[in-house]
Amino acid sequence: MKIDEIKRVGVVGAGQMGRGIAQVAAAAGWEVRLFDVNDGALESGMKKIRDGLTKTVEKGGLSKEEADAALGRLRTAGRLELVAETQLVIEAAPENADLKLDLFKRLGLLCKPEAILASNTSSISITKLAAASGRATQVIGLHFMNPVPVMRLVEVAPGMDTSDETVALALAVIKRLGKTPVVSKDASGFIVNRVLIPMINEAVFALQEGTGTPEAIDLAITEGLNHPVGPLALADRIGLDTVLAICEVLHQDLGDPKYRPCPLLRKYVEAGRLGRKTGRGFYTYQPEP
Ligand code: NAD
Repeated sequence: MKIDEIKRVGVVGAGQMGRGIAQVAAAAGWEVRLFDVNDGALESGMKKIRDGLTKTVEKGGLSKEEADAALGRLRTAGRLELVAETQLVIEAAPENADLKLDLFKRLGLLCKPEAILASNTSSISITKLAAASGRATQVIGLHFMNPVPVMRLVEVAPGMDTSDETVALALAVIKRLGKTPVVSKDASGFIVNRVLIPMINEAVFALQEGTGTPEAIDLAITEGLNHPVGPLALADRIGLDTVLAICEVLHQDLGDPKYRPCPLLRKYVEAGRLGRKTGRGFYTYQPEP
């Protein structure tokens, strides 16, 4: 398939990543179908997309007319079948291997034969998801960064049987979105999380051991290493459940004890302190209006 044959894009999962992907795809001119199993997530996802587009207009990234047109191209879908009426599906459901394997199996059966299936997974094997879909040549990892409308990088990760044609199409899609693609092997964590997650985990160990307060640890890294945001504040933004899930996959896949998740990280997740999305993580946040 060539990029101009893509008329509609389906997005599975309307959480922080899915809604961002839906927003940039609609802004790039595609009709978008956004699906979530949770009606509340769809509703709040659409609200955040509206707010996101308004912000883009305020910053001069789009005209008011372009933003309105983008919103007009977005539809929510209460059933996976509606997402299947597209040429490209990008899955952004929670980082849970069984859930994603089931979704890829269903998408493989439901979608048009020519459709490309992509996953925004941070750590789950693309090759495994591809095998579950029954159309391995047309499956690829498209790992967007958070927040999607702001961050320029997208890692493009072909699975073992992904065709060159699918890779070329994926690169063209990412460029059409105005983003920078970097090709990564289908290896645990790709490039970004292979480097980032051990750093966040180490920051949680430092907190657990009382090396510094959350504020001190983050300030040391922002001021000392010139990072725009500290590792604990970044973990709160990513979601501590997602950080833990990626850490578990790195530990399991790479088999090296250096990737073991910090017990304090696990405790926060057990407590439901997942970061910004639940109002509390390493820091406390005001509920979003
Ligand atoms: P999230 O928890 O904010 O959103 C997940 C959404 O999926 C929720 O709205 C949930 O209702 C929905 N969902 C659950 N089961 C579903 C199903 N069977 N079908 C459709 N929707 C379903 O999570 P997120 O942070 O948006 O992460 C989504 C994916 O993106 C994960 O694979 C994660 O690893 C990856 N990712 C996350 C980040 C990040 O910074 N959070 C960055 C890059 C990639």
